[in-house]
Amino acid sequence: MSNSILSAKVLQNEAAAIAWVEARVWPEGPVCPHCGGVERISKMGGKATRIGLWKCYQCRKQFTVKVGTIFESSHVAMHLWLQAMYLLCSSKKGISSNQLSRTLGVTLKTAWFMSHRIREAMRVLGLEPMGGPDRIVEADETFIGRLEGEPKRAKGSAHKNVVLTLVERGGAARSFHVDSTSVAQIVPIVRQNIRRESKLMTDEARHYVGVGAEFASHGAVYHGVKEYVRGEAHTNIYQHCAEKHLHRYLAEYDFRYNNRIRLGVDDVERTERAVKGIVGKRLTYRAAGH
Ligand SMILES: [Zn+2]
Repeated sequence: MSNSILSAKVLQNEAAAIAWVEARVWPEGPVCPHCGGVERISKMGGKATRIGLWKCYQCRKQFTVKVGTIFESSHVAMHLWLQAMYLLCSSKKGISSNQLSRTLGVTLKTAWFMSHRIREAMRVLGLEPMGGPDRIVEADETFIGRLEGEPKRAKGSAHKNVVLTLVERGGAARSFHVDSTSVAQIVPIVRQNIRRESKLMTDEARHYVGVGAEFASHGAVYHGVKEYVRGEAHTNIYQHCAEKHLHRYLAEYDFRYNNRIRLGVDDVERTERAVKGIVGKRLTYRAAGH
């Protein structure tokens, strides 16, 4: 037997992969996605039956663990999904759709849809504000890529996407794709995402002057954001990434940073955390067949 994580049964065997995902999506046992029922649910058996098919005898409908998740309407086998999730979660700088396509032996189009759905799983919903008493939260903006239809200019940032990033020292990062560095864009995000008891660190930009006074203190020493942005995150975002998908790339980098080794999260645990995020993230654009 190989010790390689890639030979793990959940990455090779479809029944094992589905059981593994079921255990994470339904820690208390199967839940019917149609009526919410938890009783009178049976596994469908028989050779002609799809693996992982359940029937709810309350509403008489059938379902699999894919319903209502990023896997819904995908024909890709679950063990391949888990391979893709493991690859995206364990490689420090992410993995391109081209690479994913070659590694998994799926078409480029399928690999592209898979990566975007996995990024969606990494997007954390309903986050509590960051910081707190004696905690330092830094805020800064980065300019990346180029706005669609804008000509390339040598200087200035008017033609670039603006990303606001908040980093708690020794803690998590959050990135937001904003329209501009105006007070109207920046201040509501700062207010909503940082506890007032925190020490706020920013540069001396005008848009932080007013809101800075609402925090325990407002200083100008900040390195964490720059380190995060330069080191791992936005420099790796593909320059051609379409604006409408930028928030998902940001979610991917924030997720990896917030579940980093230094915080005690290894590759397998990181993949498990991404799998827990698959629920309720069904993408709205048409992607049937991938
Ligand atoms: Zn039901």
